[in-house]
Order: sequence, then structure tokens, then C-alpha cells
Amino acid sequence: MDFDTLAQEDINYGKYLLSQDHLYKKIPENQRSKLIQQAVECGKTAAENLAADDLWDYCHQEKIEIEFFQEELKAENFRFVLAEFQLPNRIRLNQSLLTAAEPFLLAQDFFKDQRVADILLAHELYHYLENQQQLFTIKKQLTYQTGPFKRQARLHALSEIAAMSFAQAHLDLPFSPVILNLALLYPIAPDYSEQLAKRLLVID
Ligand SMILES: [Zn+2]
Repeated sequence: MDFDTLAQEDINYGKYLLSQDHLYKKIPENQRSKLIQQAVECGKTAAENLAADDLWDYCHQEKIEIEFFQEELKAENFRFVLAEFQLPNRIRLNQSLLTAAEPFLLAQDFFKDQRVADILLAHELYHYLENQQQLFTIKKQLTYQTGPFKRQARLHALSEIAAMSFAQAHLDLPFSPVILNLALLYPIAPDYSEQLAKRLLVID
């Protein structure tokens, strides 16, 4: 798997992330690209509006708890939590995964000079901000029909798209953090990582 090449590909990351939403098939086809665009913009705007250079300081100021947790990593159990946000104000980062993946990441050209934890933190911080500021990605509801019932639900993939564009914009990254997620998995679960990368490449 060549992540340097992948990082330079012109991939529609929003489309990839949206296609993973469990309600994806309920979203009318003619609304999909607009939703993706709105989510990307929402993340970028949140980054522009955030008056903070150092996100760790910002979290400290906002009394956001940051927890580095340990986990036993096994390839067959590949659904690791890389990082997560828990309401109202806790961010958890997977220290075991960071430690395991770091040598590999540092050997990648596309990744040089970046700090993995900064990128994961930025992503999770977006989830804090979207809740606190009730941003588009929280408020947007999809109305859909299941049998005789009309339902309304959030599209969680929109939050993921915005969190990625927030992290990319705030840290001024020359690649999408989606690539980082795949590269983080690679040293532990190479097959799964490649499978995801292939899915990413067929998105147009
Ligand atoms: Zn997320």
C-alpha cells in the first residue's frame, strides 16, 4: 500500500464518508453532493472561527478532558476506536494505536512534520464545537420513510466529513485526515486498511 500516492490522489472524501452512513440509501441522490459540500464548508468555517492556535491549550481552557487510553491491539479485532468524543466534554485518544503506528507513519513522506495526536484531537474537537454551537451537522435532519412511517434522523457521516475538513483546515494539512486513519490502521490490520483504501479509490 503506497500512502504517499494515495495522499496525492484527487479523491472525493466526502462522498466516501457519506457512503458509509447507515442512512445513505435514504438520502435522495440529488441531495448528496450538496450535503457533502455543506458539511465541508461547515467544518472549514468552524476552523476559521476558532480563535486558537494551539488546540491543546484551547481544550485546557474550555475544560475539555483529554484521556489517552490503552487497548490491546489485535488485527482480527480491527474496529478500533482511534479516538472519540464523549458528551459533554471528553476526548479520548487511543495511545496504543498511536504508539504502534508511529514508526510507520514517520516513514511516510506525505506525513512528515505532522503530529498524529494533533490531527486526531482536531477531529474530535470539532465534535465538541458542533454540539456546543449547534452547527449544521447537528441540526440537519434527514426525513425519510420506512414502511408507513415517516422518520427523522441525523446523518452522522456529515459530522465526520466536517470534522475531517475542520482538522485539515485548522492544521493546514496538504492531505485529507481520512488518509491518516487508513495509515494508522495499516501497521496493525494491513488487509482491512487496504480494503478500505480500495473502496476509497473507486469513489469518483
Ligand atoms: Zn468523528
